Amino acid sequence: MIRDDWFTVQQIDSDTYAISEYGHWEKVHSFLLIGQDKAILIDTGLGIGNIRDVTDQLTELRVEVLTTHVHADHIGSHGQFDKFYVHEDELDWIVNGIKGRTDEQIRKDMTRDITIPTPPGFDPDAYRPFRGVPVGTLKEGDFFDLGNRQLRIYHTPGHSPGHVTIHDETKGYLFTGDLLYDKTPVYAFYPTTNPEDLVRSLERIAGIAGVSRVFGSHNTLGLDPQILGEVQSAVRELRERDLIKFGTGTHRFGSFSVQF
Ligand SMILES: [Zn+2]
Ligand SMILES: [Zn+2]
Repeated sequence: MIRDDWFTVQQIDSDTYAISEYGHWEKVHSFLLIGQDKAILIDTGLGIGNIRDVTDQLTELRVEVLTTHVHADHIGSHGQFDKFYVHEDELDWIVNGIKGRTDEQIRKDMTRDITIPTPPGFDPDAYRPFRGVPVGTLKEGDFFDLGNRQLRIYHTPGHSPGHVTIHDETKGYLFTGDLLYDKTPVYAFYPTTNPEDLVRSLERIAGIAGVSRVFGSHNTLGLDPQILGEVQSAVRELRERDLIKFGTGTHRFGSFSVQF
């Protein structure tokens, strides 16, 4: 197995790895999916450690990056890869940054509450969110073919306008980004978020057939697909109780919660 002082690498199956940053309060996961012809890295983490070092040890194939959404904790090391994709609705964010959110605010958030030593060469004072031009954009219904492994893109806005969920149709894995994870609330309470869209997106992913495992981008690695049933009843309850709007607070369901 791969040893790295910053990243924890866990093997999900012979061709799939989680690359996690447990030393940071966000507990963020990136995922490496290896196919016959190429590999896909879903997100690149916080940008604190050298994730390219890790992926280079795990595969010799070329690695292309798919972005669940353009928040700093998911695009940190995009600059280490030649080819990355973002949803078309967040093209402006990756090129120019998010309006209303300063680099200094992001720097403070990304460099606080770190519980293990950061890699040599990492300077928290110099942290800046990644910016760059993607090789292509994503939209609803796009397919990525890794040779023997097919990924389908679902546009699932709400937490952010160009958030995507990625379904590995070959293995049944559903990579839900910041739309669905356990422990801490998934949220839509920023001006750039949209509670109605978030709930519609939750409803959509709950209806995807053939899901064997759900992988959110934070907290517990790998969730039982029964969480999608909990999502369906959560959506019903949120609608019935008229809670889908800014300021209604945190709403708890079986193993997850949402905050508006
Ligand atoms: Zn996010
Ligand atoms: Zn996140």
